[in-house]
Amino acid sequence: MIMREILSSEAKKALKDFKCEKIRMREESFAKMFSGRNILKLSLIDCNEAYTDGKSITIDPAWQNIFCNKSILAGTERCMELGSSPWSKDRFQALCLITRALNIHECLHLIYTRFPPMHLNDERLSSLAKRKAFGKLANIIEDAYIEAAGCFEFDNLEFYLKFINTSIALMDLNYAFSPERKAGGEKLTGEYMDDSEKYKATILAEYMHKCLAYLIYPPSLNLSMPRFDPTAEQYFANTKHLLDKAVLTPSPEGRYNAEWKIFEAIKDIIPETDAALELFCSLMPNLPGAPSHDENDMFSDFQQGHGRECRPERMLFRLKNGTPNIKSETGRGNCYVLEKSEEYGSGTGSAHRLFQERKDSVTFPVFFSAMPYCMIPSITNLIMVKG
Ligand SMILES: [Zn+2]
Repeated sequence: MIMREILSSEAKKALKDFKCEKIRMREESFAKMFSGRNILKLSLIDCNEAYTDGKSITIDPAWQNIFCNKSILAGTERCMELGSSPWSKDRFQALCLITRALNIHECLHLIYTRFPPMHLNDERLSSLAKRKAFGKLANIIEDAYIEAAGCFEFDNLEFYLKFINTSIALMDLNYAFSPERKAGGEKLTGEYMDDSEKYKATILAEYMHKCLAYLIYPPSLNLSMPRFDPTAEQYFANTKHLLDKAVLTPSPEGRYNAEWKIFEAIKDIIPETDAALELFCSLMPNLPGAPSHDENDMFSDFQQGHGRECRPERMLFRLKNGTPNIKSETGRGNCYVLEKSEEYGSGTGSAHRLFQERKDSVTFPVFFSAMPYCMIPSITNLIMVKG
């Protein structure tokens, strides 16, 4: 990964220009409108994270330095068959897209996720290692669920989510073939074999990685992933039907129960020692929102969320029958539009209420029609053409 300090002066300038009050307000207004939480603060800060505590959303627009990683952005454009598009060429445009995608993801948690996470108060998870492992698994399933539900209920989210997930998958793929990872692979077959706890940690990380690739990454990139450890592959094969069920379960309690069934099935590869836990965490790829799912002080003051129920009929990248779906489609035929879009620009609170209309009575896509700021015109055109 590129360190923040060695960003080029051009990248630093794009980042500085982007992190202005106007754009912060734009994202905050969007988050309020979309999540339906009128008292919501949004900060754009340098933390290499994106997360929510229910009262605020924190986003680092330079998350993972994707915005200035031309090869990742160009690879994402190629993978999504976007033709000539601006994001790999224009850092400011890339910042707009990445920030909005991360914002959408956090808003979807505010809409669909039960907070604080139920596993943090479950006595069955008697050790830190068990809670960590459960939290990581639940995070992957929850992320897959909220993104499926969001695309099902709202139009024009899909493009953003597919873009950011494809970028994450490509970074992960780069890492998978990196010297560090290869060294890890050698260790896996070598020294860790003698340390059963660390061996479990590597198998668990490979298993979770496999789940992530299956549930969150585009299927076309799955094929390029290096072969997973055969033991991890076996655990994955044994739990695939449970994963399929868990990610499309509408209620937070239902998903939690489904996650427990998976956790029971992988209990033999949950390590217990601190060193093994540390190794497991170091082998897991970065996902947005980790602080919102992990064990931390945030939850003592967390704004409760019940988690709205939705019954999505397909995943972000796959139809229910497993057919890959790379390009963006619109939702189930309902558009959500602002009731008084003309008031939106003035920042008054009254325009934050959404209502639902039949698609045939709406002439243009929601998040663009509703937003006078209209973040990125080229995306508008793109989606309208493809829609
Ligand atoms: Zn998340």
